[in-house]
Amino acid sequence: MDYETIQITKVTGKCPACEDYADTNSTTPPKIAVMACEGACARGEVARRAANLVAHRLARDETVRICLGGAFTKDTGQRNLVRRAEKVIAIEGCFINCSSRMMEGVIPDLKPVIVRADLIYNLDLPFGIDEVPDEMFTVYAYKVAEQVVRDYVNTTGSGSPEKNGGCAGGCGSKPAIKGCGK
Ligand code: SF4
Repeated sequence: MDYETIQITKVTGKCPACEDYADTNSTTPPKIAVMACEGACARGEVARRAANLVAHRLARDETVRICLGGAFTKDTGQRNLVRRAEKVIAIEGCFINCSSRMMEGVIPDLKPVIVRADLIYNLDLPFGIDEVPDEMFTVYAYKVAEQVVRDYVNTTGSGSPEKNGGCAGGCGSKPAIKGCGK
């Protein structure tokens, strides 16, 4: 395996909103941590929206949304959410797998479930998010989010897409998984 070595300047300040969210969601037992690659391209946009749908709509009680930048660049509440989670789901926009590779760099024993969003909606999207209609982003993101919840989140009531205003259409394809949870 070949590695890059980077140095990240430390910050002294903290984002209160981010730390408050991390404190509130640092439950026992820990919630499933959901992160996305957060890429700027259309593939990253689907991954980002799907992660938001899982953590804020389809499985609010069982999952917590991770701020990838916050968790990667500083060792505070967001990284702790990932560190203490028994399961971490990484929704990736493409095969580059940015969020899982980044977080494995700062938490070496991390073994996230890697979900390839592009293999679920199964389209070759362009780079620019201005080239994809907003409503199609919603369709693709729901498809990914519903599959993530169905396959990797053991919901106890909050996770039913139908109960939470989600599309009940679902997706019949197999999960695009590379790794498995701890
Ligand atoms: S996984 Fe792909 S889409 Fe996501 S940030 Fe990395 S290169 Fe971009």
